[in-house]
Amino acid sequence: MSVLASYVHGSWVRPDGEGQPLYDAVTGEEIARISSAGIDMRHVLDHGRRVGGPALRQLTFHQRGALLKELATYLRGRREELYELSARTGATLGDAKFDVDGGIAVLFSYSSLARRQLPDDTVYVEGSVEALSKGGSFVGQHLLTPLQGVAVQINAYNFPVWGPLEKFAPAFVAGVPSVVKPATPTAYLTARLAEMIIESGLLPEGALQLVCGGVGDLFHHLAEQDLVSFTGSASTAQRLRTHPSVSQHSVRFNAEADSLNCSILGPDAAPGTAEFDLYVRQLVTEMTVKAGQKCTAIRRALVPDSLLDAVAAAAHDRLAGVVVGNPADPSVRMGALAGLEQREEVRRSLKSLLSAGELVYGDPEHVDVVGADDERGAFLSPILLRADATRDEPHEVEAFGPVSTLIGYRDLDDAVQLAARGRGSLAGSLVTGDPDVAARIVRGIAPWHGRLLVLDQHDAEESTGHGSPLPTLVHGGPGRAGGGEEMGGLRGVAHHMQRTAVQASPRMLSAVTGRWVPGAPRTHGDVHPFRRSLAQLRVGDTVVAGPRTVSLEDIEHFADFTGDTFYAHMDEAAAAANPFFDGRVAHGYLILSFAAGLFVDPAPGPVLANYGIDNLRFLTPVYPGDELTVTLTCKQITPRPGDYGEVRWDAQVTKQDGSVVASYDLLTMVAKQWSR
Ligand code: NAP
Repeated sequence: MSVLASYVHGSWVRPDGEGQPLYDAVTGEEIARISSAGIDMRHVLDHGRRVGGPALRQLTFHQRGALLKELATYLRGRREELYELSARTGATLGDAKFDVDGGIAVLFSYSSLARRQLPDDTVYVEGSVEALSKGGSFVGQHLLTPLQGVAVQINAYNFPVWGPLEKFAPAFVAGVPSVVKPATPTAYLTARLAEMIIESGLLPEGALQLVCGGVGDLFHHLAEQDLVSFTGSASTAQRLRTHPSVSQHSVRFNAEADSLNCSILGPDAAPGTAEFDLYVRQLVTEMTVKAGQKCTAIRRALVPDSLLDAVAAAAHDRLAGVVVGNPADPSVRMGALAGLEQREEVRRSLKSLLSAGELVYGDPEHVDVVGADDERGAFLSPILLRADATRDEPHEVEAFGPVSTLIGYRDLDDAVQLAARGRGSLAGSLVTGDPDVAARIVRGIAPWHGRLLVLDQHDAEESTGHGSPLPTLVHGGPGRAGGGEEMGGLRGVAHHMQRTAVQASPRMLSAVTGRWVPGAPRTHGDVHPFRRSLAQLRVGDTVVAGPRTVSLEDIEHFADFTGDTFYAHMDEAAAAANPFFDGRVAHGYLILSFAAGLFVDPAPGPVLANYGIDNLRFLTPVYPGDELTVTLTCKQITPRPGDYGEVRWDAQVTKQDGSVVASYDLLTMVAKQWSR
């Protein structure tokens, strides 16, 4: 049996020696062996830093996003093979899709984020310019640049595809190379995934390395610009987090650990309501998907005391319909655990849980299995327990399998207290049809949770369910759950970057960020900026237009024409009684329209469309007789794939005394080239 190869410093390396055997979770057959003996971990980190990092940092966010999309498409075309291999981990086809399709979806999601929310640049300018002085000559802004180290990504065994991909995607978008370390029991699946990625030839060399087996002395070689993203048990997280290299070099350490997630049934959701059925269905789904080997699975089912019996009976009935066995058999709803060792671990935890409660459903030592040998495969019955709220075990012991405990609560405060006894969870859910219950419970338990699902009959059909982390939302939880935050859209990317506060004059800040900053020089050229293509336009290009006098007739005409006859424009006495005005004022939208009438260059040209306004503020009232002038300055140029790009203009409308009447960012689409 061959030992799994690792992809390190540009080639596939197959360690010498025997290695440790890896077994098929269903048949118990040996699949492969694993070892990292002989791999020079210092060399691995060095390769990432010297080869992968520089190559990635040459690409813009948009280019990285485009590569991620190609990669996602490439993997999607090969997912059948991954499903097949996934079955050997004990996964049903549904479980495999959760893992494989879920991982590919994360790549698509981060690809889209890179192209839509990030600039076509290698750095990210965050937030607005902060005024740091009265005179405006000293300002500040945050700049995010990719860390120049390596992201070491240590994964748990339960999601061999999704796990590595959800860590890789934000690191890649940020421009940081990854070293992927799969968990031993299912490493053969991650190894095949990595092989596909390398075979695709899409990624720059060094962007992804794979270490199968132990990490050896890798942690000793971690340095200041490296990161560690860990998923696994709380005990391993603690050991790695306290490694001297991590503390000595302030290595960013993100941990996703185990958690005793709860699902709360609202007191309104009695038998016969849609929410009662949703609750029971979700509980059984969470227990059986991936045979309960989900860090987000419901471990504690908190239900009103008065509904305990009804929930126990309904869940029992549903669980009785769950067919356990070989995932290849179409009747099977729940496959095997990842291996016999994992099953022993669950049985050990069950002993402790059973000491605190009674069995509602299942037998820890026996299950009827379809299409497989129950001695050789790691099968386990779904186990539903019922425990007294005073016992500690259900709030402390994670049985990482198809196991959940029903616990009764007295009232909403009690439910909140019980939820908090998990000491920090990745995900929680509440099933209720009552908005007041939703508000009280969510506000009460949110400090202990990374993510909360409120399920009712209105979102049930489209809901992604209690257990699914989503790439656009934070994944992670406080306390026992590891204290980490993974993905979460832009947050996941920013985690791999250094945020630096840059303080400078507007001119210098503008040069650093590539964006015009108020107070930086403006360029008043002979050519109207609307006649410049994206290739010709420069940040700072400005047009000043006006003045134009606003008359009472203009205001009345606008009111009549649009139907906006609000009293502040039409009734002198009522307007004067308003604390903001001394009399009738011009409509804000009239001011914007006049401003456009002043600054546009009307003939066909490179400006293709006005597509919006950001940050609009009306700052000073405009009275009949006031004179408007507009200053339009090119603030930011963002080329897009294709023939045009976005131009953000700073627009300031002032009146005769110099006061600013309206301030906004105008957004236009401008052609890259224009020859007419
Ligand atoms: P684990 O034993 O803590 O292992 C997790 C990872 O850490 C594996 O890749 C493991 O590699 C590695 N590891 C162990 N000791 C290490 C060391 N000294 N140095 C470097 N790496 C080391 O957890 P598991 O049994 O694989 O996974 C199950 C646990 O993960 C459950 O408790 C579950 O709740 C949790 N989990 C959490 C999440 C989440 O997102 N929060 C997701 C999935 C699972 P080897 O396998 O080679 O030992």
